[in-house]
Amino acid sequence: MTKISEIGEFKLIETLTEKVKLKNSSTIKGIGDDAAVLDYGYKQIVVTTDLLVEGIHFDLIYTPLKHLGYKAVVVNLSDIYAMNAIPKQITVSIAISNKFTVKATEEIYSGIYLACEIYGVDLIGGDTSSSVTGLTINVTALGEVSKEDVVYRNSAKKNDLILVSGDLGSAYFGLLLLEREKEVFKTNPDVQPKFEGYDYILERQLKPEARKDVIAELKKINVKPSSMIDISDGLSSELLHICKASNVGCKIYEEKIPIDASTQNIAEEFSMVASVGALSGGEDYELLFTASIKDFEKLKNNEHFEIIGHIADESEGKIIVTKDGSEVEIIAQGWDGIKE
Ligand code: ADP
Ligand code: MG
Repeated sequence: MTKISEIGEFKLIETLTEKVKLKNSSTIKGIGDDAAVLDYGYKQIVVTTDLLVEGIHFDLIYTPLKHLGYKAVVVNLSDIYAMNAIPKQITVSIAISNKFTVKATEEIYSGIYLACEIYGVDLIGGDTSSSVTGLTINVTALGEVSKEDVVYRNSAKKNDLILVSGDLGSAYFGLLLLEREKEVFKTNPDVQPKFEGYDYILERQLKPEARKDVIAELKKINVKPSSMIDISDGLSSELLHICKASNVGCKIYEEKIPIDASTQNIAEEFSMVASVGALSGGEDYELLFTASIKDFEKLKNNEHFEIIGHIADESEGKIIVTKDGSEVEIIAQGWDGIKE
């Protein structure tokens, strides 16, 4: 197994990037010069970046390197889609211990390239450094959108419908399961982890997808959301971001929050309420958006998303109606709050 220290930084970059083929006409110059060159013509460009730090955002004990590379890209693309934009390019910067093998870094990049393939983006550059404190991956994504299509968080209006794509909470319970099996493994390394039957929630945690299809569907049915955000920190926290930015209140219904049957099952196994994972868990990377009530007919009964409530006047507060009918103020517990 070749160690990174044996081949050095330049050879490593070459090894990792030699197969890059550019796909997008907006990518004029990719890897290989002091900077990449892009030409977006008359479009607007959206830019986002995310930092993944070992021990904070991922645990190498149960995170396959290929999945890690894939997820590092996807979480950024999710942010681009949340602007109603189309991702086109990424840069990837890594800080990695010299003790890592070249093969291990190639594993990370195989996940990065898979995401590039599936989402049609070009890897156009990055930076590489050695590290003494674990692995860090930073991905920056760029996307394009026309001025008429861009969707912000601050434009939700009273009476707008509130919708979410997919289902929520699964990634959080996937994490709880991984952490549980890690503890079992730490006390008894001979015991095999119990992962059978949990494929869906594990995949949601380890290999999430960005909702490219939801953006395409909204275009297809000719609906422009009045506001949008991606769900990286739990429904509560994201909804409060929209309400705050738009100076509005909201009312959502617990029973309308889409939760997969397998999420429901594992929540019961952990003696938890599944919707708590949906509201306060994280990393679902679904889209939360609002749309005019005029679009109701186009939006109802669509398999891509669920109507979970409506925007209210700011004075009415931010309310969730629980399954037993009581009205509770939504608080942003967020990811970190329930992680302990
Ligand atoms: P510079 O000294 O100008 O920063 P580098 O030697 O760091 O250049 O990088 C050379 C080329 O390889 C640049 O195009 C850079 O964007 C790209 N690159 C460097 N590290 C990575 C990486 N980890 N992943 C993808 N591209 C990279
Ligand atoms: Mg450099």
